[in-house]
Amino acid sequence: MTNRCRGCGAEVIWIRTTANRRKMPIDAEPVWVLPVSGGDTFLRKDGSIVFGRKIGDAWDDDPDANVIEAHESHFATCPVGGQFRNRAPRTRAPGYR
Ligand SMILES: [Zn+2]
Repeated sequence: MTNRCRGCGAEVIWIRTTANRRKMPIDAEPVWVLPVSGGDTFLRKDGSIVFGRKIGDAWDDDPDANVIEAHESHFATCPVGGQFRNRAPRTRAPGYR
């Protein structure tokens, strides 16, 4: 199921993570990830989590590379951010003490 981010209009896919069954948006466009323990967090469409390092197209030339197609959390990539989270606390009016 694809959707568009309300904040930036990017195409996102809502998945349910296998770890805690929470729904979250991921970028519809997949990236190649080299699994590395302690790396960044990526998600797969089945809701599983991959820890690794995002790699570029240079790895297309290496058929032996142990890379995984995964997706970045849209929380991390959204240029406007915060659109999925709870509203920020109201800022205080000028002069408020
Ligand atoms: Zn967005």
